[in-house]
Amino acid sequence: MPELPEVETERRRLAAAIAGKRIAAARVDDARLTRPEDPQIVAGMLTGDRVVAVDRRGKYIVVRLESGHALLVHLRMTGGFRYAPATHERAVLELDDGSRVAYRDTRRFGTWLLTEEDDARHLLSVKNGPEPLGRAFTTDFLAGRLAGRKAPLKAAVLDQRTVAGLGNIYADEALWHARLNPLRPAGDLTRDEIAALRDGIRKALKLGISRQGADLGDGAYAGGRMQDEFRAYGRDGEPCHRCGTPILKTRAGGRGTWYCPTCQAASSRPSRSRRQSST
Ligand SMILES: [Zn+2]
Repeated sequence: MPELPEVETERRRLAAAIAGKRIAAARVDDARLTRPEDPQIVAGMLTGDRVVAVDRRGKYIVVRLESGHALLVHLRMTGGFRYAPATHERAVLELDDGSRVAYRDTRRFGTWLLTEEDDARHLLSVKNGPEPLGRAFTTDFLAGRLAGRKAPLKAAVLDQRTVAGLGNIYADEALWHARLNPLRPAGDLTRDEIAALRDGIRKALKLGISRQGADLGDGAYAGGRMQDEFRAYGRDGEPCHRCGTPILKTRAGGRGTWYCPTCQAASSRPSRSRRQSST
């Protein structure tokens, strides 16, 4: 399932392909993609419009159009854009320079929502917290979101209103970088640990973007190299890169979850400030 680094990689490719161009013809073949809107109506509205920019918010790709409309694309499980003819094409955009972009989705959970830009902005702000790589994603913000929560930390960071764009892979990677146990109650973290969590989230996402996302070999998302950099996700039984302890698999928040039982011990680590105050 594409997360922030995969969606950002898709966004960059899509922007390079369509930004500034006019949509000469649009075709939507799958009513599930645009429901409850009629796919013919959506295709008709896209046709003739010009792409001003292609942005991203959390896991949404936001295609901004000259008309004041915005097309919000959520790739869900297996959605993605292709620049050569592909199988499982659900929609096609033909651009005014003769080029062609297809939207492909084998499992058909992806969505296209065409709406007014103001409505798009509102919807995206309701569904997403601040961008984790932006300046608003502070330790204070994160502390406020986690305070009092008894849910496992893993579940808390998967909430898009806490960390926009994080999913199962990068949540495990972030918690490994931050040396935090995924099963700890989210509200129990110290200030230092919340700061480490923020840094771990940013580190995992930046690394993912720099490797153009993760290709899990399932055909859903192709071309990334992040899978070579995994420190926790999917590595059960393999040695931790920091301490050599075999990585364990558990479940947290209903999701398969990988962590190092030594570096990410269940009890709270004594923070430096607490050690100093006790001596
Ligand atoms: Zn370890």
